[in-house]
Amino acid sequence: MAILEVDNLKAGYENNFVIKNLCFSIEKGEFICILGRNGSGKSTLIKALQGLLRTISGKITIDGTNLFSLTQRQIARKIAYVPQMFNLAFEFSVNEIVYMGRYVHQRRLNGGSPGDKRIVNEVMELTGISRLTDKKIAHLSGGERQRVFIARALAQDTPLLFLDEPSSHLDINYQVEIYKILKFLQEEKGKTILSTEHNINLVIPYAQRLIFLKDGKLYGQGPPGKLITKSNIKDVFDANVDIRKNIHSQLPEISLIPQKAKSQ
Ligand code: ATP
Ligand code: MG
Repeated sequence: MAILEVDNLKAGYENNFVIKNLCFSIEKGEFICILGRNGSGKSTLIKALQGLLRTISGKITIDGTNLFSLTQRQIARKIAYVPQMFNLAFEFSVNEIVYMGRYVHQRRLNGGSPGDKRIVNEVMELTGISRLTDKKIAHLSGGERQRVFIARALAQDTPLLFLDEPSSHLDINYQVEIYKILKFLQEEKGKTILSTEHNINLVIPYAQRLIFLKDGKLYGQGPPGKLITKSNIKDVFDANVDIRKNIHSQLPEISLIPQKAKSQ
């Protein structure tokens, strides 16, 4: 069953459309990754799918309901979002930020219930930030901050999880760790996951379906094994690569071809 359906979506800013005539759907429990060049519209699409943009037309249906008929609070109970860039609330501690994920479930600011505390502790453990709990967000490294905002989204405990470049700022260990966590949430908790990513090789073993965006349009979609080809990477990214088989996963893997220095 489709948890999210997008029909003829156009979206952008100040009456200029960045996303053009997009149609696709996401099945419940799927793990999808959106790939495309800088400026191709990945972040714009992820925002549009949560009703965060004013310049928008077309139809978005979530769980059978028209997205535009829902309040932001109702949407926030269905979709948790880790943005590409954060407005940093510098004075807050890690613990306070993760607790913010619970607000959408609370009737009033009552300091949280024991259930909230359990969930906050669980997601901090899962994302490896328990030891940072009392630290101020301003005093963390980029990668630690990234994990705090991922933890906040997990604390929101929604069926859908949107993450805009979750691996940026993370070291190689945490890049894999984050995708392992997302895969665990998909497989064990039935979450539906939509991420954007620049590290294509990283997501190939985790995402079931890739969506290639080019100039705000859907270039192609399908399982990584089908979509990752030399010609698709050339068309979408204008990059010359070789494709080989990862010896562990047997899935395709991109191998960069070193280029000569740019001449004037
Ligand atoms: P990246 O890989 O760099 O994150 P992206 O695929 O996420 O890129 P978007 O951020 O969606 O790209 O931007 C798509 C286009 O929309 C770009 O041309 C960008 O300049 C424009 N754009 C993005 N945000 C705004 C905004 N707030 N107001 C006006 N135009 C915007
Ligand atoms: Mg972006």
